[in-house]
Amino acid sequence: MLTRSALIYLSRQEGLKEFAAKFGLFKKLTTRFIAGENIEEAIAAIRELNAIGCTASFDHLNESVTGVEETETEVREYLNVLARIDETGIASNVSIKLTQFGLEIDPELAYRNARRVVEDAARRGNFVRIDMEGSNVTQATIDVFKRLRAEFGLDDVGIVVQSYLYRTMDDARELLKIPARIRLCKGAYNEPPEVAYPDKKDVDANYVRVMQLLLSSGVYHGIATHDPKMIEATRDFAERQDIGKEAFEFQMLYGIRRDLKEQLAREGYGMRVYVPYGKHWYPYFMRRLAERPANIWFVLKNLWK
Ligand SMILES: Cc1cc2nc3c(=O)[nH]c(=O)nc-3n(C[C@H](O)[C@H](O)[C@H](O)COP(=O)(O)OP(=O)(O)OC[C@H]3O[C@@H](n4cnc5c(N)ncnc54)[C@H](O)[C@@H]3O)c2cc1C
Repeated sequence: MLTRSALIYLSRQEGLKEFAAKFGLFKKLTTRFIAGENIEEAIAAIRELNAIGCTASFDHLNESVTGVEETETEVREYLNVLARIDETGIASNVSIKLTQFGLEIDPELAYRNARRVVEDAARRGNFVRIDMEGSNVTQATIDVFKRLRAEFGLDDVGIVVQSYLYRTMDDARELLKIPARIRLCKGAYNEPPEVAYPDKKDVDANYVRVMQLLLSSGVYHGIATHDPKMIEATRDFAERQDIGKEAFEFQMLYGIRRDLKEQLAREGYGMRVYVPYGKHWYPYFMRRLAERPANIWFVLKNLWK
């Protein structure tokens, strides 16, 4: 637990973030979890995933952006991604982070930026997922999402909830009233016990409760996890309730449990892989190490090779 907190703490250090973005060790350090530095490498990774029956979601890595101009660059990148999806015919949607679009500068700016991307996706018949970040921005993220959802359709824009937060069951119930397409995950940030379950078993129990609520809603949701217990609970519940495989999808991260991805896709489940790319890899990469500190050894071994 201490290691996890320490790694997440390090993931938030601005100096290290900047250093990592400029530092040339990219390939050796990050290839397992990050598809590459540029969009072409991400497209190549997605083609391979499509070939084994998985769809994808692009994530252009960046977060906690503090300059207005940089948010403009992010919007342009996503507009380009949406165009490239159409040009190449790959099966993928996009995931965005609102702090990448300026949420911590001005929520209005993040809304306007996200709106441009959602509008373009809607026009193209594609879909934008708004990732969920730290609990300091949970409400602001939901607020922006609700504004977008009031203007765009159920199949244009969706959101994420995290089972480690106490508030999540209530949020999920409220979001379903709109309704909204939701990705359920456990949550990847360092949260205090005032807002989040400190014990994994409670996070898991809440995950199963929220999963059951989502699957019973009749809306198409994403069940994002690599945890075989969560996957089994989902399959089990769906079978018992007669909920078809086409009614939801599983989601996993690039570089984790390829075997399980292939197996679920072969069994006929929707399987979407979150594919991050870009030079601002540091915070994302550190959260992946924090989830499984054994990954540190994997990374160190690669460095020696
Ligand atoms: C598609 C997708 C989108 C996500 N979006 C968000 C988001 O918007 N906001 C957010 O806060 N979090 C997000 N997450 C991250 C999520 O919250 C968890 O931190 C992460 O998925 C690990 O939790 P788990 O459900 O896999 O279960 P865990 O209990 O953490 O892990 C279960 C098992 O999965 C494997 N595993 C898990 N993580 C790793 C890893 N890093 N390396 C190697 N093996 C691993 C291990 O075998 C582990 O025993 C997302 C995850 C996915 C899959």
